[in-house]
Amino acid sequence: MSGDMLDRYDLDNIAIGTLGSHSALNILKGAKEEGFRTVCICKEKDAIMYRKFGVADEMVLVQDFSELISEPVQERLRRLNAILIPHGSFTAFLSTEQLIHDLHVPVFGNRELLRWEADRKAQEEWLRKAGLRLPATFKTPEEIDRLTIAKLPGAKGGRGYFLAESPEVFHNKFSDMVRRGLLKEEDGDRIHLQEYVIGANIYPSYFSSIMKNDVELLAADRRYESSVDAIGRIPASEQLEFQVNPTYTVVGNFPVVIRESLLPELMRMGDSVHEMAKRLAPPGIIGPFCLETVITDDLRIYTFEISARIVAGTNVGIGTSPYAYLKYGENMYMGRRIALEIKEALRQGRLREALA
Ligand code: AMP
Repeated sequence: MSGDMLDRYDLDNIAIGTLGSHSALNILKGAKEEGFRTVCICKEKDAIMYRKFGVADEMVLVQDFSELISEPVQERLRRLNAILIPHGSFTAFLSTEQLIHDLHVPVFGNRELLRWEADRKAQEEWLRKAGLRLPATFKTPEEIDRLTIAKLPGAKGGRGYFLAESPEVFHNKFSDMVRRGLLKEEDGDRIHLQEYVIGANIYPSYFSSIMKNDVELLAADRRYESSVDAIGRIPASEQLEFQVNPTYTVVGNFPVVIRESLLPELMRMGDSVHEMAKRLAPPGIIGPFCLETVITDDLRIYTFEISARIVAGTNVGIGTSPYAYLKYGENMYMGRRIALEIKEALRQGRLREALA
């Protein structure tokens, strides 16, 4: 549907736009380096950052990101010939239905996949059908037979997540969390129970190119999460004393260079996720996506989530990431790779294919 919106666009004067947060510096810098004008839809308080870094040619100031679907903002974006690059804040501030039905500005990527990404069950089906190894899931607490993470859907930063290794421990901890006001009684029915895999968290980021008909592994990172990454700095006896509960608010990311012998499997995983997406939501993934994995000490790769868009972890590559360097040489990174694809699509007269 995005393709039809191009009818009124001046294709010689395309701008690349995004919401001012998450990976906007990455996206806008990449767009400028490929010669595009850039538009940042931004809150007043954050405008200083985009101005000082000089990455935004146009600023559209809003009070709240949900204003993106207001008619005046959309009309302004269309007049600027803007193509939007979605990132995590799009899905955080707008519903899937709003993004699919109410946003009449061209969006880079396949909007249909938003539905698959937003629904935990659909996401699991997609990854499983693609042949990936997933942590086991349990329908009821009574089925818990190993270390399990209890996740409350939509919990920001994993607040209210907890670990349990048996039904008894689950029920005790759940009641305790309710008593402490961290969960509500009715949350019990919504909790997702997933095997907790002990291993190294690795987030490989890929770019699915329709111009090259290829899936490229471009970056890898791990997150720096508060408070879970701080817990190891407190002696175990004090952790017990203070009842420390891990939360997973991301405060930053570290670049990771992955053990080389793991790369072939990670590449096959990226390919098969895209192949399955082609069947589930044609034409499959367009542009960036990321698998959230845990790799165990016997080198098994478990995938517990997919983001079918750019992730903030690719910000560690602004400038160059090792895998982007291997493929493209210096100064390539996810934001720039997106702009390069749009430029190539324009050159070949195939832009509509990139805007599903
Ligand atoms: P999520 O909200 O699903 O992104 O999970 C937040 C954090 O919890 C992740 O970044 C991981 O550190 C951790 N995590 C989530 N699921 C699992 C799992 N199945 N096994 C191990 N760690 C997990």
